[in-house]
Amino acid sequence: MPKRRPDHIPMRTCAICRQVRAKRSMTRLVRSADGTIAPDPTGKAPGRGTYVCDDPACREPHALAAGVQRALGAPFEAALLATEEKHAAT
Ligand SMILES: [Zn+2]
Repeated sequence: MPKRRPDHIPMRTCAICRQVRAKRSMTRLVRSADGTIAPDPTGKAPGRGTYVCDDPACREPHALAAGVQRALGAPFEAALLATEEKHAAT
């Protein structure tokens, strides 16, 4: 693994569409020790994480819940992310 240079843009794979995108344009979801999956606005929460891009197709609740469950192995209440987005929009 090469070391990351300071100008390197971190990239992550979307759990839903599998496209690789810039990490900062994506939402991190993290599974905490008790198995709860929640959005992680800081990107620094401990636990197993996955990333979801901002494509509307990836925010569709059924696709979102299925993709996140596949990635993290626990059920995800997709409405959590929808709520988060509403707050972020204003
Ligand atoms: Zn996506």
